[in-house]
Amino acid sequence: MFAVTLDIDWSPDPIVDAVMELFEKKRVPVTLFCTNPDTDRSGNSSNLRGRYDERHELALHPYFSDFADHEAVLRDLLAHYPNAQGFQSHNGNTGWPIWSAAFRRGLKYEVDCRVFPVDVPPFVLGDPNGFCVFVSRFMDANLLHQAYERWSTDYVPLTCQATSETCLFVIKFHPNIVYYDMRSTSEYKQHKSYYHEPREQLSFRRNVPRGAAKLLIDLLGSIERDHFTTISDFGRSRGLWPAAGRRGDAAPNDLLIPIRGSKVASAEADIGGRRAAIKRKTSR
Ligand SMILES: [Zn+2]
Repeated sequence: MFAVTLDIDWSPDPIVDAVMELFEKKRVPVTLFCTNPDTDRSGNSSNLRGRYDERHELALHPYFSDFADHEAVLRDLLAHYPNAQGFQSHNGNTGWPIWSAAFRRGLKYEVDCRVFPVDVPPFVLGDPNGFCVFVSRFMDANLLHQAYERWSTDYVPLTCQATSETCLFVIKFHPNIVYYDMRSTSEYKQHKSYYHEPREQLSFRRNVPRGAAKLLIDLLGSIERDHFTTISDFGRSRGLWPAAGRRGDAAPNDLLIPIRGSKVASAEADIGGRRAAIKRKTSR
């Protein structure tokens, strides 16, 4: 299965709306890692609750400046998104004190901030007991450093997760990078000065997409819709956490079982999975 995620990073609402339209057109669910609008200096980013279809997941993108502030940062962000199930930290700060605090507040998973070079199935920790960790295999920001002329799905290492019900392939995008259809770090720097305001004439909506927007559009068009899920829907459907888990419960003791049947892909499975997951254009 695939889970596309968006790190909101205080993107202005019209930019998030424009990127969300791509998902709405294909009726594909997405997990939004939401930043705290109260700490948005531009004032153009707001609480996203109720803004998009319920098939999407609103999770947390906390900005920890160090370990000392993690309790307050989680508390303040959860006040905006009380139904959030998981988080991915904005600047990469993570570790046991943060997992534990998140777990005590009822969060069930973290997506590791790093992009892994190999497939790793979601796994459940023993401490905090039952907390789940997901890793990702692609992030748009990393590809900026390669400065490809045209971004293609060939740069996404689609593997056997594509067709497996037991594995999850997490693909990370950022609304600003998609909206301005960035292709390189120099384009990122060029757009950075107006990162917090929408300039539609410079966006993928007014130009032929060649960068991050092209890649996202191609991905949404080339993978079958029912292969996409949100991270929380995947965790629930795989029994990684209880369907009606109440927030703030003490550590559940029945969640030690890792995902049954999950495995790391072999090179052969990569190729087979890739072929099976991608729609054959000739047959449509
Ligand atoms: Zn971020």
